Amino acid sequence: MYYSKILIPTLKESPADAEVISHKLMVRAGMIRQMAAGIYSTLPLGLRVLKKVEQIVREEMNRIGGQEVFLPSVQPAELWEESGRWEFYGKELLRLKDRHDREFCYGPTHEEIITDIVRRDVHSYRQLPITLYQIQTKFRDEVRPRFGIMRGREFTMKDAYSFHTTEESTRETYSQMAEAYSRIFERCGLDFKMVEADSGTIGGSFSHEFVVLADSGEDRIGFCDSCDYASNLEKAEARAAKPNSESTSEEDIKEVSTPGKKSVEEVTQFLNVSSDKLIKTIVFETDQGLVAGLVRGDREINPVKLKNLIDCEWLNPAPEELITKETGVPCGYLGPVGTQLKVFADTEITHMSNGITGANKADTHLTGVQFGRDLKVEKVGDLRDINEGDRCPKCDSGKYKIKRGIEVGHIFILGAKYSEAMKAHYLDDQGKEKPMIMGCYGIGVGRTAAAAIEQNYDEKGIIWPLPLAPFQAVILPVNFKVDAVRSAAETIYKTLWEQGVETLLDDRSDRLGVKFKDAELLGIPLQIIIGPKNLDEGKVELKSRKTGESKLISFPEEISTVPEILAEL
Ligand code: ATP
Ligand code: MG
Repeated sequence: MYYSKILIPTLKESPADAEVISHKLMVRAGMIRQMAAGIYSTLPLGLRVLKKVEQIVREEMNRIGGQEVFLPSVQPAELWEESGRWEFYGKELLRLKDRHDREFCYGPTHEEIITDIVRRDVHSYRQLPITLYQIQTKFRDEVRPRFGIMRGREFTMKDAYSFHTTEESTRETYSQMAEAYSRIFERCGLDFKMVEADSGTIGGSFSHEFVVLADSGEDRIGFCDSCDYASNLEKAEARAAKPNSESTSEEDIKEVSTPGKKSVEEVTQFLNVSSDKLIKTIVFETDQGLVAGLVRGDREINPVKLKNLIDCEWLNPAPEELITKETGVPCGYLGPVGTQLKVFADTEITHMSNGITGANKADTHLTGVQFGRDLKVEKVGDLRDINEGDRCPKCDSGKYKIKRGIEVGHIFILGAKYSEAMKAHYLDDQGKEKPMIMGCYGIGVGRTAAAAIEQNYDEKGIIWPLPLAPFQAVILPVNFKVDAVRSAAETIYKTLWEQGVETLLDDRSDRLGVKFKDAELLGIPLQIIIGPKNLDEGKVELKSRKTGESKLISFPEEISTVPEILAEL
């Protein structure tokens, strides 16, 4: 490809709304352009990168027996009504009507469509298991599209779905997928972790996320510094609390006056106790009404864990006015003793003696609260957020580390949720009809490319890992008008393409400085600089984008070694 012939509209300035480096650099390198909020066009250079990601994904899906399909992006509402998601999916679902007033949506995901395909054409246990996948455009009307194509509204996803007769077979495919995903992100040159993810109320390790480590990431993961336990913080298990060894005698409940003292800090200072003596009561609004969650004063409630313990559809922090209206208690003084609210407690609470809580009346707290004696609790479970340095729940020596990251892939065992709702049944070897068991597996293609930039850049621009680079080498002639330089550049260009090295030849008449700046911004791994002086001595210069190191090789003899040099970069 000659630079002058390809559309690479590089920019000096980043877009004003760009918060993360990948968004800035993808726009500046002329890879993407925004059309509307969260909706992007991909230009030639950007598309070359996305195709690289897609190809790696495709090869690894095919390797484990996945069959590629291409499903419609516009999906009939009836299928979503069958699965029960037409109501449930809410505002992220872009709903459309055709000229006959029939309702459709633009697919944010494809469980309904694939289940419909399979129920129509797969009927026997002999046809199972089967894994189908596609690489396609999705639309999700995200509340806050941002970070360029990392959280777009329209984006490309690889989504795979597997169908099985047994749980065991589902797990087998699930672990093959996990391995395929690990290979994909390794091949992309990314530093990632596979972490346990929340799988709603199904429980167990039925879901894993693949998270690329980056400070700009929206996700937080916790992992052990000693064993290989790693989890999304939403789910990271707290180590079962040990009973307090100091034997304290159980005091009676006593009301104490705490005028104007509401927060943990205010109450503990006023009563001169440490915050782990407090039982914190946090109220949430759920589809089952208001509920109270209890954690120790020095802990935070993890809403995802609470939602799973309650087994409710949705849960949000309750607004103060609502709490006061429903309970008659001013905020800051709510407590679990004698409350009408359903109470759910963190395991640590069960080991506390002489706890301090709100007294359910203004300006008053209770001391001497005993779990077994004074509290009526619906359920006890692991409800607290873990902190860096907390002990690992799985091994005896490890401690939690916490890092930020970008979720690039997600694998999930769905069970019979969709196949039951949509009657995707098969006949087993006894001729009995049964619902299929399903798994689903997603990778964000654009998000993976953006995540690669978040891990590989410097002040000059992108530093592509070789497997994702739009071009592997760029030829930079000092002056393309000089015959000897031009002829050497063209020879090298031809030779490299013949050797399978995707090469860009910067044939523009700009100064070398300009060409360098662009080459650095675009992040092409190897620069081949051709100057008249070196050429006179039968040499050209090779420079690594990543290290900045350069060396001379002889021209034309050593041009054939470029593929090896690239492999070592
Ligand atoms: P998130 O929590 O980031 O919104 P999700 O849990 O909704 O992600 P999935 O439904 O599991 O995501 O989708 C599979 C993959 O699709 C994700 O792992 C991610 O790589 C990608 N993806 C999801 N939403 C977006 C988006 N708005 N823009 C770009 N890629 C996305
Ligand atoms: Mg989402």
